[in-house]
Amino acid sequence: MTDKERHIIDVYRNGETAVLTTVTGTVCPCYTAKANYSPDWHRTNTGAENCNRTLLISRTSTNTNILMMSYPASLKLQALTLSKEQMTVIGEIQEDDLVCYGIITAAGAEIDISALDEKHDYITYDSKKYIVRYHFPAIGYLQTALLRRINP
Ligand SMILES: [Zn+2]
Repeated sequence: MTDKERHIIDVYRNGETAVLTTVTGTVCPCYTAKANYSPDWHRTNTGAENCNRTLLISRTSTNTNILMMSYPASLKLQALTLSKEQMTVIGEIQEDDLVCYGIITAAGAEIDISALDEKHDYITYDSKKYIVRYHFPAIGYLQTALLRRINP
């Protein structure tokens, strides 16, 4: 058994349950490379479906039961050395930010959290919604991410 497999078993046995919601759809016509979401476009095209800042229309949500280990970021990030670039992306650490390790499905399969898009994908944990604010490249064997709470 590899160290990574041992870590996955650890998350499988001791992880906390959460729900990952991924959203797919068609790219909204309001999207331009210059200005992501365009409220002006939606004001001009009132009859068009509103993407509600997700940049996707005709959305389909998929919920997946997941397991993960999480810690308050304010405690955990002191142990990590963040580069200037990482700090720029993450911004100021919020009081309810979480660092989570090893997101796996309830069946024990690893999920590629680097593919999640914070504009529309989110994790519901402890009745609160979080986006993956930052995906750390490789810390130990499991994926690590900074989750930031968003309003429901
Ligand atoms: Zn739009």
